[in-house]
Amino acid sequence: MYAHACQVCGSRVETMCSNYSEAAHIRGLGGPHLGPDQLSNLLCLCPDHHVEFDRLAIYIDEDWTVRRNSTGAVEYQLKRHAEHVIEQDHVRYHRALCGRR
Ligand SMILES: [Zn+2]
Repeated sequence: MYAHACQVCGSRVETMCSNYSEAAHIRGLGGPHLGPDQLSNLLCLCPDHHVEFDRLAIYIDEDWTVRRNSTGAVEYQLKRHAEHVIEQDHVRYHRALCGRR
């Protein structure tokens, strides 16, 4: 869907055989989060933004801007494919973990 381009920064990790990206769960799979393993709960991210997202350094706001949690500053606009329905409830859940409404 994204041809391995990060939905946050748009960069693509090129390797010898193919491009590389990571599937990041918005709401974590295991306990206590119990997020579903579905496309609506997934983002295509580069390794750096996957770590930042999982460690709550960045979050997605209601208007799909990507903000730095420490300052609230807008850093990116989340790239969304027309066929990729992202569940707002999961985004809201992640935002709450970040201490944001
Ligand atoms: Zn990225």
